[in-house]
Amino acid sequence: MTNPHKTGGGPGILGRVGVAIGLLAGLRGHDFAAALSFMSRVFPNDGQATRMAKFARWALDQMFSVIPDALMTAAFAGRVSRTSIWLSSDNPVANVPWANEPGAELPREVEVVAVGAGFTGAACAYHWSKRSGAGRMVVLEMNEASSGASGRNEGLVVMGRFYAMVRGTVEQSLARVRRDLSPERRAELASMFAAAYSKSAYRNSDLIEKAIREEGFDCGYVRAGWIQGGGDAADLAEDVRLGREAGFDDYTTMGPGEAEDLGGIRLSGDAGFSRQTASWHPARWVWCLLRAALASDNVDLFTHTKVLGVKDMGEYYAVLTDRGALRARYVINATESYTAMLHPDLRGVLKPLQTQAAFAEGGPAAMKSDVGLSAGVAFFGRVDEGVLFGSDGTFVPYDHAGRNRPSRFITKFLIGEVHRYFGQSEMKVTREWSCTAGFTDDEFPIVGLIDGKRQYVIGGMCGSGSSVHFNGARHVVQRILGLDGPDDYPEEFFAPSRVMDPENHPWPRVDG
Ligand SMILES: Cc1cc2nc3c(=O)[nH]c(=O)nc-3n(C[C@H](O)[C@H](O)[C@H](O)COP(=O)(O)OP(=O)(O)OC[C@H]3O[C@@H](n4cnc5c(N)ncnc54)[C@H](O)[C@@H]3O)c2cc1C
Repeated sequence: MTNPHKTGGGPGILGRVGVAIGLLAGLRGHDFAAALSFMSRVFPNDGQATRMAKFARWALDQMFSVIPDALMTAAFAGRVSRTSIWLSSDNPVANVPWANEPGAELPREVEVVAVGAGFTGAACAYHWSKRSGAGRMVVLEMNEASSGASGRNEGLVVMGRFYAMVRGTVEQSLARVRRDLSPERRAELASMFAAAYSKSAYRNSDLIEKAIREEGFDCGYVRAGWIQGGGDAADLAEDVRLGREAGFDDYTTMGPGEAEDLGGIRLSGDAGFSRQTASWHPARWVWCLLRAALASDNVDLFTHTKVLGVKDMGEYYAVLTDRGALRARYVINATESYTAMLHPDLRGVLKPLQTQAAFAEGGPAAMKSDVGLSAGVAFFGRVDEGVLFGSDGTFVPYDHAGRNRPSRFITKFLIGEVHRYFGQSEMKVTREWSCTAGFTDDEFPIVGLIDGKRQYVIGGMCGSGSSVHFNGARHVVQRILGLDGPDDYPEEFFAPSRVMDPENHPWPRVDG
C-alpha cells in the first residue's frame, strides 16, 4: 500500500499542508450542506456564531492533524467503485424477467402494483405470495431489485429507534402541530406514539427472524446486538429507564470494557446497547424474499420498468410506466425517499436524507464482525475481509433521491474515526457510495392510505427501514385482503394524513 504522505513518525508540516490542500480542492457543493447538518447535530445547543467557531476549530484539526495522521496507513484504490459492498454480490433476480424472457410484456390488469423492489416492495411481494387465490401482484422496479437504499446501507436489522428517542422527537413535532394541547397532554400523546412504534418494531424483528428460519434464507443474519457509543451517561440511564417502564427492554447500557470485548470499540464511557439488533446482508434479504415470492403463481417482478405516474380512474388506477400502462385495483408505493417524485403531495413531507458509506480492505483487526457499532456521528462494521464505515445525514432536494454522490472529505474524516475508535491500522478504500433514506418531519413512519381509497404508502422510516418494512408490508397486505391480524399500524398514529394534513388527521384522544 503506497502512501505519498507517509514519513517516519508522522507526516511533516509539508505533508500536512499537502493533505489540507487536497481536501479543500476536493470539496463539492454537498460538503457545504453536510457541514451545516453536521454542525446542527454535533453542536445542537449553540447559537450560529458559536457553532461556526467550534466547527472551524474542528475542521482545522481534521485537515492538519487527524486526517493527515489517519492517511499515514490508509490508501485509496486507483479506481474507487461506487457499487456498495452488498451489491457486489451476485443478484439471483437480476434483470427479471428480461434475462430469460426478452419479449415479456407487462400484464394489462392486475390486483396490486407494488412500486419499488427494495426491503418494502420485496416484503409486500413475499407476504402476498403466501396468500394463494389473492389475485395477481406485480412489482415494478426502475433499476434492479435492492438498488436503492436497501442495497446501500449499513447492514443492521434494527429494533427501531429506542422508545425514549421516539418519544422525544414526536414530542418536539407535536409542539408545532398540536399547539392546542397542553405540554402535559403532548407528552402523554408522545408516549402513546412511542409505545405504538416500539410494539410494531419489536414484532417486525421477530417476524423477520421467523421468516429467515422457516424459509432457510441465506442472508448472513446474526443477532449479536448494536453498541452505540458517545452518548451522555445520565441521558442514557434515563432513556433505558423510560423504555423499561413502558415495557420495551431491548435498549440497555454497556460499560466500555464490555463494549471493547464484544465489538473491539474503544469508548471512554458507557454505551447504549440494543440487545436484539441483528446484522445481515441487506441486498440478499431482498433477493431471498423476491425469489420466494416469484416461486408462487401470483407475483411477478418487472425490473428496469419505471413508473411515471399513477392516475386515479375511479374503480382502478392507471399505472403509467416507460413500458406502457396497466390497470391496478390497489397500488402500494414502496419507494421510500423516491416517493415525492411520483406524488407531488408528498414533496416537503417525505424527504430524502443523504447518508454515505465506504468499504476498505484490511482495517483494524480489533473490530468484530456481526455486531453493530456506532459512535458520535459514525457507524462501523466488519464485513468479509474489510471494514465498512459511514456517516452523514443531509437533506437533498426531492428529485435527488437515491443519488450516489459520496463526499471524499467525509470518507477521509471517517478513516480518522475508525482509527480513533479501533486503533491505527492499514486499510485500502475500494468502495464509496451514498443513498438517501426517507424522512418525515416528526421522524415517525407512515403506513397507510395516501388517498383515502386504495393507494398505500409505507415510508418515512427515517434510516431504520429494517424495523418497519416487513411488518408494515404484512399490515398492508392484510388490509387489502381484509384479513384478521394484529393492527400494528393504527391509523391514528401511522396514517399519512399525520404529516400530509395534520389538521384533519384522526389523532388519538388524550383528553380523558
Ligand atoms: C448509508 C445508509 C445506511 C443505512 N443503514 C441502515 C441500517 O443499518 N439499518 C436500517 O434499518 N436502515 C438503514 N438505512 C435505511 C434503509 O436502507 C432504508 O430505510 C430502507 O432500505 C428502505 O427500503 P425501501 O424498500 O422502502 O426503499 P428503497 O430500498 O430505497 O427502495 C425503493 C425502490 O424503489 C425504486 N423506485 C423508485 N421510484 C421508482 C419508480 N418511479 N418506478 C419504479 N421503481 C422506483 C428504487 O429504484 C428502489 O429500488 C440506511 C440508509 C442509508 C442510505
